[in-house]
This record gives sequence, C-alpha cells and structure tokens, in this order.
Amino acid sequence: AGRLVLGVRVTPLSGGHVLALIDDRSQLRRVEETRRDFVVNVSHELKTPVAGLSLLAEAVVDASDDPDAVRRFAGRMGTETARLNQLVQEIVELSRLQVAETLDAPERVDVRACALDAVEHLRLVADDRNISITTDDDGSPAEVFGDANLVTTAIRNLVENAVNYSADDTRVTVTVKGSADLVTVAVKDQGSGIPAAELDRVFERFYRVDAARSRRTGGTGLGLAIVKHVCANHGGEVTVWSEEGHGSTFTIRLPAAQPQNPTPGEPAEPV
Ligand code: ADP
Repeated sequence: AGRLVLGVRVTPLSGGHVLALIDDRSQLRRVEETRRDFVVNVSHELKTPVAGLSLLAEAVVDASDDPDAVRRFAGRMGTETARLNQLVQEIVELSRLQVAETLDAPERVDVRACALDAVEHLRLVADDRNISITTDDDGSPAEVFGDANLVTTAIRNLVENAVNYSADDTRVTVTVKGSADLVTVAVKDQGSGIPAAELDRVFERFYRVDAARSRRTGGTGLGLAIVKHVCANHGGEVTVWSEEGHGSTFTIRLPAAQPQNPTPGEPAEPV
C-alpha cells in the first residue's frame, strides 16, 4: 500500500518512433484493494450470524417436543435476525457513503436539532443503566450544509458508543458549538477509553478493540467508519482523544453554513 505503481502503454508510430504513455495507477490500485478488502470483511462478518441462525433452526427442529426450548431458540433467532438486519443496513449505508464523494442535494441542517434527536434516541438505554446524558449548549448558531439524517446518524453513533463503552452510573456530555466557520460536536464519556496504539484504527471498517465486548452490546464495527465518511462527505472531520481507563472524547468538526452564501458554489453576496 502507498507504493507508486506506474502503468506504461507503448504505441508504435510511423518512422520508427514510439509513443510511450506513463500513468500513475497507485490510486486506482488502492481503490481496488480497499474494495476487495471490504468484500472479504463483509462476507466474513455475514457468515457468523448466518451460521448461528442455521444452527438455531436445526435446534428448533430437534427440540420440537419441548415447547420451552423451542421458545428459547426462537427468541435467540429473533435477536440474531435483528443483528443481521442492522449489519446489512450499516453495510449498505457505508457503501453508499463510500461511493458518493459529495452529497446529492445539500440543505441547511441545524446540527443542534440533530444532536438532540440523537440523544433522545439513546435516552432509554442510558436511563436503564443510570448513565446521564447532558447537552452543553451555548446557543450559538450551529448550521451546516448537508444531510440532516446523516448528521444525526453520525452523532447517534458517537453517543451510542459513549453509552455502550461506559460503566453504569457515569456521565456522557454532548457539547454543540458554532462559530463563523465551524460547527463542533463533542461527545465525551467516562468509559473504558481506548489504548493509544489503537486510536488511529478505530475508524477502520470492522475494527474493534475488544470484539467480544462490541458484539455483546450489538456492535457491528462499522459505526465509526460511517461517522468518518459522513464527516468527509460534509467537508469535515472526526477526531478522538482518549485515555485508557478514564474515558474518550470524539469530536466532529464541520464547515459552518455561511448566512450570506446559502448554496454551495454560489458566490457570496458583497458585504
Ligand atoms: P462497534 O460497533 O464495535 O461499536 P465502532 O466502529 O462504532 O464499532 O467502534 C469501533 C471500536 O472502537 C469499538 O469496538 C470499540 O472498541 C472502540 N470504541 C468506539 N467508541 C468508543 C468509546 N466511546 N469508548 C471506548 N471504546 C470505543
């Protein structure tokens, strides 16, 4: 990876001359490698729940005389199916984001409203474990151009992780701030933290620090890859700060929508 790959095409011309065209194929090769890795990963990740379902189906047949066992196996089939469904949805979402480098029809998005939506979505799960989610909001305008559903999904993935990788009775803080150029959303937790050596890798597709823990909380390993692509498609970025055993802060930074320049590409009005 990262090696320069040159392609050479030689065309004979009249008079004994040749035309040699040299092009850089390293970019193309990288895209192909990424796509191949993705397909390998996806098939591997899909195989586990499918194998589980097929074993459970056999168990149901074998236990047909025992209604309690049938009920138990059927319940587990329901859980596995829900997990498979989420995995497929996230794979489709991520593939779409990877293919589209820009957004189709960007609109003015109120990031504060997206953050509140995302927090509401996690409220019940957090309450259940006595994890308080507070929003710290200075009321500054926080609008970007983009897709409100995607921005909400990105923030929700971060809040979901903050809750999933935290112990009971802790606090998650979501801070939204807007400035003239930038909208920032920071999601801070007091959870397990991430070892320094793995910080760079958590945004990779299917990368998990602790696969067993991720699976227990219904994780797919795609959440942060989706966040990264949503940020890139909005012209922004996501970064992480973390201290093992103390907690993590994930920060999304997106370019702010300019009041005098409502659609991207349109010249700004003179001031
Ligand atoms: P998953 O579905 O496994 O949560 P993600 O892509 O969202 O997948 O995250 C990748 C991995 O990064 C997780 O499996 C976990 O190990 C780590 N991680 C993500 N967020 C946090 C967090 N807030 N605290 C600790 N570890 C985290």
